[in-house]
Amino acid sequence: MSAQPTCLYCQRANPVDTTECRQCGMPLPAEVALASERRLRRFSWFCVGLTIFCIVMFFWLPRSIV
Ligand SMILES: [Zn+2]
Repeated sequence: MSAQPTCLYCQRANPVDTTECRQCGMPLPAEVALASERRLRRFSWFCVGLTIFCIVMFFWLPRSIV
């Protein structure tokens, strides 16, 4: 995986510290390291939300389905 953020629109590789494409001016995706960290954080929040959802459903839904 390249460290340089690639523009999603014109596919141009940009320097790491840029936030906008040097060629077309569109905002670049977050830096690779930052993006993976952010993705991990988002995933952990998703897990927390899923756990809370399961607990709520556990108490909300009827217990005995026979
Ligand atoms: Zn571009």
